[in-house]
Amino acid sequence: MLGRKQLEPKKDSFIETSSAKTVQAGATFRLIVSFMLVVVVAFVAVEGWRTWRDYRSAFASARDSVTNLARATAQHAEDTIRQVDVLTASLAERVEGDGLQSINIPRIHNLLVQQSKIMPQLHGLFIYGPDGQWIVTDKEVTPETANNADRDYFQFHRAHDDRNVRVGEVVRSRSTDDLIIPISRRLNNPDGSFAGVLLGTVKVSYFVDYYGDFKIDDKGALVLAMRSGTILVRRPFIASVVGKSLANSEIFKRYLPNSTEGVAEAKAVIDDTERLYGYRALTTYPLVVEAGLSRESITAPWRRDLQKTGFVLVFLIAVLAVFGLIVLSQLRQRMMMEKELHHAHQTMRDMALTDSLTGLGNRRRLDSALLDEIRLAKRQGSSLALIMLDVDYFKRYNDKYGHAAGDDCLSAVGGAIQQAVKRPGDLAVRYGGEEFTVLLPNTDRAGAAQVAHDILEAIRSLNIEHAEHPLGKVTASAGITTSQPSTEAVTPATLLKAADAQLYSAKQQGRNRWCSADVPTQ
Ligand code: GH3
Ligand code: MG
Ligand code: MG
Repeated sequence: MLGRKQLEPKKDSFIETSSAKTVQAGATFRLIVSFMLVVVVAFVAVEGWRTWRDYRSAFASARDSVTNLARATAQHAEDTIRQVDVLTASLAERVEGDGLQSINIPRIHNLLVQQSKIMPQLHGLFIYGPDGQWIVTDKEVTPETANNADRDYFQFHRAHDDRNVRVGEVVRSRSTDDLIIPISRRLNNPDGSFAGVLLGTVKVSYFVDYYGDFKIDDKGALVLAMRSGTILVRRPFIASVVGKSLANSEIFKRYLPNSTEGVAEAKAVIDDTERLYGYRALTTYPLVVEAGLSRESITAPWRRDLQKTGFVLVFLIAVLAVFGLIVLSQLRQRMMMEKELHHAHQTMRDMALTDSLTGLGNRRRLDSALLDEIRLAKRQGSSLALIMLDVDYFKRYNDKYGHAAGDDCLSAVGGAIQQAVKRPGDLAVRYGGEEFTVLLPNTDRAGAAQVAHDILEAIRSLNIEHAEHPLGKVTASAGITTSQPSTEAVTPATLLKAADAQLYSAKQQGRNRWCSADVPTQ
């Protein structure tokens, strides 16, 4: 059985082009959206990668900076203290050789004055007796009651035989009130007993000045601390921070025990600032330096760049989005217009192929379907049947009941024909006036006769009064033709002509009947 589709006349070229255009517009729409997405993703990916690379390189160069800073400050601290170490060692040698009781105080004083002038880091040089009394210093005046027996370093040396130099925590000088780092060593009597202490003091300000010369950001930090964690000097310099302990800082707790030098990111215990620190323990003395650059300052240029890039990126994406939206909305409008046009065309086409009185197809529809079905039947070797119907004595009906009633009657007859034609492939049309045609693809003579019979019966069953008809109601006659387009020469005209001839026969034989070429009439 053939589908309705096969019967539908071919779409005209305009409809085909317009629907092809709609499909094309849909593809263009998707293409533009995909292109925009790809461009945006590519932009973001490239900028994201570049930003990530800049971030990494900012940290890489910061690592180098803090490593160099730590190395420079460690070297400086080591040199500063070593000089005092060497000086105090030779002075101790001399004092011990002379014997502390019998030293020439003015001569040693002059020597101490000379030495401390040579070394800019030196705040003073002091020699204390076993009871802490000041014996000789580089200062011009020695306070009468001056006694340093209470000092931490003094008590240490009195209690320990160790002859090495000792670096002490920062104290305030009794002679000048400056903050100083005491570097001391024990003096012995020839018998090895405690003879006193030789002290060289280094100015904290010497380190402060040196650290101040480095170009680091406001939040950067430079620290010199004891290995125990006690701060000796720190930039930025705040006197109250001196003496505080870094023992609980991450670098002292986690990193220094494992490595004497390195780089680590940590939060400062003093000011809670996140920094990248280079740290280094001095090789000769129990001291540690830390050089830190704040995370904020490391990332500042990067963040500024990110802001600019982000702004440009957002701007570009916005421009692209606006441009894309304009293009897309125009495309959408065009698609909608084409759709409407397509719809309007289809409606027009349907109207052009429909009979307005009965709602059936019209003659144009039949002409187109006939061509298609003949071609199809030829290809498939199937039979094709055509029934031509004509309402009997319709002129009389019109004359009796009027033209409007005639129209109503034709409409009812059309409905009855449509009802009787059951297969979806069959096509019933109003051929013109009170004539109807039914095209039955893939139908043989017997089948076509059955359909004709059903149609005539359906019209009779309408029971439309027709006083001028011998039977008193509306009837119709039908002519049937069947053909095998694959074996015969068949055209629409031959089919219509043959059916018409059979219709003529039916009329001749008294109407209200069908006639088929070689089938006896009903
Ligand atoms: P026959 O039984 O031989 O077919 O006789 P008939 O009167 O039906 O045939 P005829 O061809 O003489 O008349 C057909 C009439 O159909 C003529 C016309 O008035 C009427 N007719 C044709 N088209 C329409 C139409 O659209 N509406 C109405 N109301 N009548 C129509
Ligand atoms: Mg007629
Ligand atoms: Mg008629």
